[in-house]
Parts: sequence; C-alpha cells; structure tokens
Amino acid sequence: MSALNLVLLGPPGSGKGTQGERLQEDLELPYYATGDILRAAVREETEIGREAKAFMDRGDLVPDEVIIGVIAERVDSHAAEDGFILDGFPRTVGQAEALEQKLSELGRRVTAAILISVPDEEIVRRLGGRRTCPNGHIFHVEFDPPSQEGVCDVCGAELYVRDDDKPEVIKHRLSQYSEKTEPLVAWYEERGTLERISGTGAPDAVYEDVRALLATLRMEEEA
Ligand SMILES: [Zn+2]
Repeated sequence: MSALNLVLLGPPGSGKGTQGERLQEDLELPYYATGDILRAAVREETEIGREAKAFMDRGDLVPDEVIIGVIAERVDSHAAEDGFILDGFPRTVGQAEALEQKLSELGRRVTAAILISVPDEEIVRRLGGRRTCPNGHIFHVEFDPPSQEGVCDVCGAELYVRDDDKPEVIKHRLSQYSEKTEPLVAWYEERGTLERISGTGAPDAVYEDVRALLATLRMEEEA
C-alpha cells in the first residue's frame, strides 16, 4: 500500500491535535505537531527555541525558515517511510510549497490535507475557558472543571490562564490564522487534495468522519 502523507489543518482550538493523536494510534504513523516540537525547543533553550519563543510570547507565528528545516528533516526520516501526520505545518503557502518540493524529491506527495473547521465564536469559548497548572495539567471551566476552582486536581498547584489562552491573544491568533491559512486552504483545494471535516461535534463523532474519509481515500488510491 502507498504511504499515507496527511496534513491536518484547522484553527487553534479546532481539536485537530486530538484527532491527530487518534490517527496516530490507529494508523501507527509518526505524528509531527509543530507546536510540540517548538515548545520542546523552547524548554530546552536551543537556538531555534530562543528564536521561536520571542514570536510565540506575542501570539505571533514562528517564521517559515525556522520551521521548514525542522519538518523537512522529519518527513525524510526512516520513521516516516510509510507516511506521517503533520499538525501545525504547513501554515502558509510558502511552507506548503517547501513541503511539496521536499516530498517530490522523495517521490512522494501529500495524500490529503484534512481541514477541521469550527466557527470562531466556538473557538473563543473552548480556548478562553482553559486553565493550566505549572506542571502542564489542563482543565476547562466548562467542559472539564477542577473539583476546587483554581486548583489543580492532580498536583494541587494554582491554575492560571496561559498567555496563549487569553481572549485578546486568541482573537489575534484567529485573525492571523485566517489571514495566513485561508490562502493555504485554497492552494490545497486547487490541487484537489483538500478534504473538509466539521469539527463542531464531539471528538468521537468528528473522528468517525475522519475514518470514513480515510477509507474512501484508500479505496481511491487502490483503484
Ligand atoms: Zn497540576
């Protein structure tokens, strides 16, 4: 069977991370989330990490040249031979072109760019309610409240709103997302690789749609 090279698209808070993790378990493909890769670099205070941190702290996107190198190395690795799931990359047409270039050097292409779409107001509701503890345990005032308000159930530390989850930063991220990602969505659409999935339902229901889509893609690949 041919490799399944997937790109997940969707605004912050669309749940694409959750879908990506399920896909990873189901398909046993490596899952590359740019956010995780960058946050690890920030924690480890690598050169790329320090560079990226300045942008992330402002809610801005990390520039292409910083990210492209990291991703190219991973899709070209032994682990990604049977395919991969990319989350958070590409984010711009420039990045998509760099990815296409890299994959064509390897005799491959993106099988599908899966767009998980959720209305803006729903995203502000989802992200604005998130509360985090210093040890990374995450709660939600509406969907997953801690038993005592403002205190982590797991470790007892005080909960806070991550800079990324502050309403003004969410709005800034969403407007950046639209501005930069809508041309990317159009770019994949022109190539016939864009697949739209509604992300407003519960994670299980959304994942059923993703699975149905993959089954169709595989039938088409094998036909
Ligand atoms: Zn905690």
